Amino acid sequence: MDRWAEFSRSAKLSGIGVSEIIRIGAEARKLAETHQDVISLSAGEPDFPTPDNVKLAGINAILTNQTRYTALDGTAELKAAIRRKLKRENGLDYAANEISIGAGAKQVLFNILMATLDPEDEVIVPSPCWTTYLDMIRLAGGTATMVPCSADAGFRLSPEQLAAALTSRTRWLLLNSPSNPTGAVYGAAHLAALAEVLRTAPGVGVISDDIYEHVLYDSAPFATMAAICPDIKPRVVIVNGVSKAYSMTGWRVGYAAAAPDIIAAMAVVQSQSSSNPCSISQVAAIEALDGPQDIITERRDAFRRRRDRIVAGLNAIPHVHCLLPDGAFYAFVDMRTLLARPELKRKDIADDTALCRYFLHECHVASVPGFCFGGPGYLRLSFAASDRMIDDALERMKAGVERLLKY
Ligand code: PMP
Repeated sequence: MDRWAEFSRSAKLSGIGVSEIIRIGAEARKLAETHQDVISLSAGEPDFPTPDNVKLAGINAILTNQTRYTALDGTAELKAAIRRKLKRENGLDYAANEISIGAGAKQVLFNILMATLDPEDEVIVPSPCWTTYLDMIRLAGGTATMVPCSADAGFRLSPEQLAAALTSRTRWLLLNSPSNPTGAVYGAAHLAALAEVLRTAPGVGVISDDIYEHVLYDSAPFATMAAICPDIKPRVVIVNGVSKAYSMTGWRVGYAAAAPDIIAAMAVVQSQSSSNPCSISQVAAIEALDGPQDIITERRDAFRRRRDRIVAGLNAIPHVHCLLPDGAFYAFVDMRTLLARPELKRKDIADDTALCRYFLHECHVASVPGFCFGGPGYLRLSFAASDRMIDDALERMKAGVERLLKY
């Protein structure tokens, strides 16, 4: 019998699919083949181009033949640039053997979880959260303990919730500030309060996903656990990268800063999967980190204007509520009042997935259902889009909701 006829996925993959965000993006692209007016607000990437100085550094890397394998977890030069960044922007000292570079923060997170989780180890994840965390934890053999954080609490984990979620199997607390999808930000006081609880649990580490560090609006300055609580720093892994701050999502460069034993364990995972991140992208990332930084404030100001625009527009739609996110570039929109309306029930639009499909197929606006992030009844809309796209999307969604409420 033909072995391939019997092909089935490994047990490891059971219940794990392609990320819902990527799936919806593909559905929107397919729809766009026949309808040119589809507005995609589902992706999590800046719409700005990579800065010219960074592009030129990449071109120059090709022309000067920097196109071979590099050191497994990143070049010495990029590690030095990352160390300078951590010192300059976060006041943190890390040695070269405390830095690991991978193909995006996503691979870096995967390496950490693969390198550290044993079966039944638990990771505390405040939710709503980025969908990928949960699947990655499962792939790595661990268990995610999702702790629901309400809008009233600013979508932030409280020290009491942290204390209640800790068990003898807890390995990590995974913090993401500013947060995808809620835009919640943990300030210095919030982090210090969580650290009080962590001091009672010395075996628990913190993965601090700081990828949206520079997309921060009102609650400046940015705070990260390792800098706020130096006594906790030895058990913190900082995860960051160039994707969001420098519009470099396609270049795939992310990094971690952590104790040398964790970095060494991550290198084992990377050595048996992808090896070094792209040599050309690493050269470009040095330019991003060491070159002029004005782009960060310019783009943040643009994101702030778009945030204000989209949130005001969303709140003008009947039964739709949206809080002003403090960071990242997502509006996390509360559709629960709308979904509770009898008119929607009659039309079989009972949850966020159905509403997301309605907006995609009837209004040609792509969003992501909140259930993917552990926030059922919400939709996530990215405002990393032009003013024109935002205005058009709002207009169509408003008209779409009015149609739904008609009969
Ligand atoms: N963390 C969070 C919270 C994200 O939203 C993303 C990208 N969507 C990443 C990490 C990964 O970023 P990258 O792999 O592009 O560096």
